[in-house]
Amino acid sequence: MTADGTLTKDDSRRVAIVGGGLAGSLLALALSERGYGVDVYERREDPRVDGAEGGRSINLGLSKRGIQALTEVGLIDVVMPLTVVMRGRVIHAPDGSTRFQPYGKNRGEVLYSIDRSELIRLLLDRAERQPGVTLHFDHRLLSVDKGRRELEIETGGTARRVAADWVICADGAFSRCRPEMQRGMRADYHQEYLEWGYKELTLAAGPDGESVIDQTALHVWPRAHGLFVSHPNRDGSHTLTLFLPHEGADSFETTKTPDDIRALFQKYFPDLLPMLPGLVGQWTSRPTGSLLTTKTAPWRFDDWMVLVGDSAHAVYPFYGQGMNSAFEDCSALLSALKTHGGDRAAAFAAYEQARRPQTDVLMELSKANFVELRQKVSSPWFVARKRLDVALNRLMPKTWLPIYTMVSHTTMPYADARARALKQDRILGAAAAALVGMIGGGLWWVMRH
Ligand SMILES: Cc1cc2nc3c(=O)[nH]c(=O)nc-3n(C[C@H](O)[C@H](O)[C@H](O)COP(=O)(O)OP(=O)(O)OC[C@H]3O[C@@H](n4cnc5c(N)ncnc54)[C@H](O)[C@@H]3O)c2cc1C
Repeated sequence: MTADGTLTKDDSRRVAIVGGGLAGSLLALALSERGYGVDVYERREDPRVDGAEGGRSINLGLSKRGIQALTEVGLIDVVMPLTVVMRGRVIHAPDGSTRFQPYGKNRGEVLYSIDRSELIRLLLDRAERQPGVTLHFDHRLLSVDKGRRELEIETGGTARRVAADWVICADGAFSRCRPEMQRGMRADYHQEYLEWGYKELTLAAGPDGESVIDQTALHVWPRAHGLFVSHPNRDGSHTLTLFLPHEGADSFETTKTPDDIRALFQKYFPDLLPMLPGLVGQWTSRPTGSLLTTKTAPWRFDDWMVLVGDSAHAVYPFYGQGMNSAFEDCSALLSALKTHGGDRAAAFAAYEQARRPQTDVLMELSKANFVELRQKVSSPWFVARKRLDVALNRLMPKTWLPIYTMVSHTTMPYADARARALKQDRILGAAAAALVGMIGGGLWWVMRH
């Protein structure tokens, strides 16, 4: 490869990408633009033929990191018209009252809601248009022969072996490629299932096509026992995602009959009931999904295989960073390949070194945000603390940044964002302690005199 990243005839040209999801299709496009031939092996049928994927999260929150990666591959101008701007969160209290919390102090600090199936269709269309990209749908990876450098792929009930000059595993949270790559290596793998699952419902637009709740915000119904999050769609409808325990009282397991379903809503989300006339039908026809978080090492084998996106680090969706960080992986991998020229092993090593510590931190942040979204957003202390954060950010825009701003509205590495937030917390804690000390000292002085 030349210094500007152009391939020379000595470079291995045929890349196999396992998984034609968000990261896989973005990489297919970007690598073909850099001169690589790409074969994408995707287990499912072509989503452009079959329509939207059933049961997966329908909307995604696109933020700065994803926007940056889409900009680098020249797609942002075609993606943005598919999005709906979300200026902040509307918190719905149990008594039906609502409160708006902006995402940031600047007009630009917003998130964008995008339909997953529209985005994936766009990425696949663009990748397919590139010379040298072949998309193989209904092609499932079964196993990997690292010695012979071949993949075993099953299609139409028949398995066959395909050779690949190198392989990118982009097959998501339940990756087959990752364990195959790590077979025989001293690999670590940690996986946790959340005791809560999720179900998606649709909040239809009103008869005039207008949204029945504010269309320019993410809506949250935070309850200790259940959590609804709603993303707006371009047609005025909203995609509601209910997070609820899998088992126990008021859980997915125990909410089966029409009466159970209505009773659950009456107890926790009464204001939603009149807005969801087809609730029972939706509830019974939509699947219940599970939430998984993983971290693993290594992310690479020699100069032949490398992991990206959820196959390397699935996170809980509570920070809305899974896709954004998967796209950021793609940028980091492309940049490492460019920097290290033809030395792919060095490029993979540099990529893993840059990204893995960051996504390990993202895993922790996403877990913590589950508690925040569920319980803290409705606590007066939390709201006061958020307000103080925003006020300090206004006073010192360069030095004081709320953690949410750093994660969602910048491309600052996640670990740096967390370290900075912890430092800010310590400063606030010390200031609060000093204030309490001063007040206590003042009271003591008054009482003594
Ligand atoms: C409820 C929920 C809400 C979410 N909300 C957000 C959000 O707001 N913002 C955000 O940034 N992220 C969000 N995410 C996370 C986001 O969906 C993922 O992080 C993202 O899809 C990861 O992209 P990926 O390409 O790595 O994996 P995927 O998109 O899962 O793609 C993997 C692909 O590999 C294919 N595949 C799997 N196994 C094989 C095999 N053996 N052979 C061939 N192909 C295979 C799959 O069919 C799939 O097409 C959310 C996730 C959930 C569950």
